[in-house]
Amino acid sequence: MEVSFQKEIEQLRLGDGDTFHGEGILAITKALLQSGVSYIGGYQGAPVSHLLDVMVQAKSLVGELGVHVEACANEASAAAMLGASIHYPVRGAVTWKSIVGTNVAADALANLASPGVTGGVLMVIGEDYGEGASVVQERTHAYAMKSTLLLLDPRPELATMVDMVEHAFAMSEASNMPAMMELRIRACHVRGSFTCRDNRRPAVSALSPLAEPGHFDYGRLAHPPSTFRHEKLKIDERLPAARRYIVDHDLNELHEGKHQDVGIIVQGGIAPALLRSLQQFGLADAFGHSDIPLLVLNVTYPLVPEQVVAFAEGKRAVLVVEEGSPEYIEHEIATHLRRREALRTTSTAAPAAPPIALHGKDMLPAAGELNTEAIMNGLLAFIERHVPQHDAGPVAAMLAATRERRTRAAAQLDAALPARPPGFCIGCPERPVFSAIKLAQQQVGPVHIAADIGCHSFATFEPFSIGHSILGYGMSLASRAGVSPIMQRRVLSIMGDGGFWHNGLLTGVQSALFNGDDAVLLIFKNGYTSATGTQDIISTPGKRTKAQAGDKLASLTASDRTIEDTLAGLGVQWLRTVHSYRVAAMRDTLQEAMTTPFTGLKVIIAEGECQLERQRRVRPWLASLLARGERVVRVKYGVDEDVCNGDHACMRLSGCPTLTLKDNPDPLKVDPVATVIDGCVGCGLCGENAHAATLCPSFYRAEVIQNPRWHERAVDAVRGLMLRLLQPA
Ligand code: SF4
Ligand code: SF4
Repeated sequence: MEVSFQKEIEQLRLGDGDTFHGEGILAITKALLQSGVSYIGGYQGAPVSHLLDVMVQAKSLVGELGVHVEACANEASAAAMLGASIHYPVRGAVTWKSIVGTNVAADALANLASPGVTGGVLMVIGEDYGEGASVVQERTHAYAMKSTLLLLDPRPELATMVDMVEHAFAMSEASNMPAMMELRIRACHVRGSFTCRDNRRPAVSALSPLAEPGHFDYGRLAHPPSTFRHEKLKIDERLPAARRYIVDHDLNELHEGKHQDVGIIVQGGIAPALLRSLQQFGLADAFGHSDIPLLVLNVTYPLVPEQVVAFAEGKRAVLVVEEGSPEYIEHEIATHLRRREALRTTSTAAPAAPPIALHGKDMLPAAGELNTEAIMNGLLAFIERHVPQHDAGPVAAMLAATRERRTRAAAQLDAALPARPPGFCIGCPERPVFSAIKLAQQQVGPVHIAADIGCHSFATFEPFSIGHSILGYGMSLASRAGVSPIMQRRVLSIMGDGGFWHNGLLTGVQSALFNGDDAVLLIFKNGYTSATGTQDIISTPGKRTKAQAGDKLASLTASDRTIEDTLAGLGVQWLRTVHSYRVAAMRDTLQEAMTTPFTGLKVIIAEGECQLERQRRVRPWLASLLARGERVVRVKYGVDEDVCNGDHACMRLSGCPTLTLKDNPDPLKVDPVATVIDGCVGCGLCGENAHAATLCPSFYRAEVIQNPRWHERAVDAVRGLMLRLLQPA
């Protein structure tokens, strides 16, 4: 990774009384160091990548503290790392993107939660849900319930988030339960400040290791019969201990309000959106004071039944503002309120409990992000029914006007505006391969394509529209196992090198080899887990290799052979490595793989460095050459507008954003012509496609020379003179 986090690392060094300014996820990172963690691990993914990226680069700081940082191979290995805290009094933290990462980690999580932990454990979970999310829309909450994990959902305000990190470790130790903290996209990126404390050097760490291992204790293994006792401990001791901690330390916030006969229970992470919505009704101010009493749940699992019932007691109606589906919190609150009523009904001493109307998903959307507008619509129904004395008319009119405006805009714009899906970066090495796949299918016929997670999934958008299914990160080869036998043509599986190391090697390659499957696997070897922020992987070309690369403009192709060696070592017999930008060669190799009589696993490695990383490396280098007055040559491609026939076949094969349209300069032609605009990085795909697909000969390649040598200036002067002489005056 060529991005530097030096500024962020400086923030992590702040001490007692200093003020931290910055993003939520960096504040959490600082809070981990203040909490005295001994080890940190994780697997990258939005919106929490920053945590691990910063820690990986903060080698000297973590070295001073004795904190071990591990960039884990996947979320399962990160969760398994937390096993250190089962026996030893060490605090550990890991991070990943949920729900996908939690799915991958589920086995280790269950086996961690069963024996429980001695040292505090915290998983910082990027809850990638709602607008802007990139994964399946499910809730991490289900895992907290099924494995008996603490789940914190702090109000996204930096001081609260930092406090909650420290409480999470302490609560984990008090209850022996591992803790998860879910952070939504906005919580990770919210900016603010908090007053720091010194970083804490852990008592047990890489600097002060333990002399002896813990004594053997079968009770700490997630094996029967220990597991039967663990289950009892969860119910009888751990959950009660966690609830005591929550109450004793006021982790959930109780806000009084003048409308005492109603109340709202809200997840901490949603509290700002709720307050903003109440503000629109004139029921809250800009400082977060609400006229309706609020119970803000900074800990959403476990709930404290007595706290919930006490909050609801004396109220006619309570609204639960809970994001996502199913509404686990609402269901649980309904149970507690029903039990309260049942208890009073059967008790002769206490008067019958007056009913409390419980609302939630009957008024709020069952699915999707709870943004301010969604909450306002729910609040409107609640207020009209239970706070009728408050005039909600202006908000009702505003919401109706917004709906009407949206309908009108949709009617006018939907037809006029094309969709703008995300796409490959300019010059991405993966784009040419999809051009080749399109061309190969013209020869062998359409094939079933098992796609995967990664930048290459952008090919599911136009102009490629390639990929029949995505079953998870690194799962493409495994996902075709049931499809291959029912297809006349071979199935093509596509995987990135990130996915290959994350899961694909074992779940896909090993299984295909073991079963002798007739399968074709295409691996993009671009050197990084690019889609999550270009983090390094085991096959990333080493820094030394980069420094030694004589021609820095050349892709680092003569680099790492770890993937090839691994595949060969495992027994893959049909293995080809093809440069990503060689479209014709890639097309021919794909055709061969789809038609060869060899019936085992066939692997094609598309080798070409991630263009984003390449540009990060090359641009400063070019700038330094220019600053020294040295000669620099940049390659650009262009379209001769007089030759272009306007059929746009090149665009349907490329999709590069810098290959676009402009008005036809010929007044007798109506079709716009293709043109290459400024951002072209000269990757060469335009030329390759023109040859491989036998397109019209309108593309040209130009070399832009900065700081030319004297003879180049002379040649340029002669050429200019000739052109002027040949052109009519
Ligand atoms: S980040 Fe790299 S691999 Fe991903 S689309 Fe951009 S250039 Fe391609
Ligand atoms: S050569 Fe073509 S595909 Fe490559 S960056 Fe330039 S316009 Fe885009």
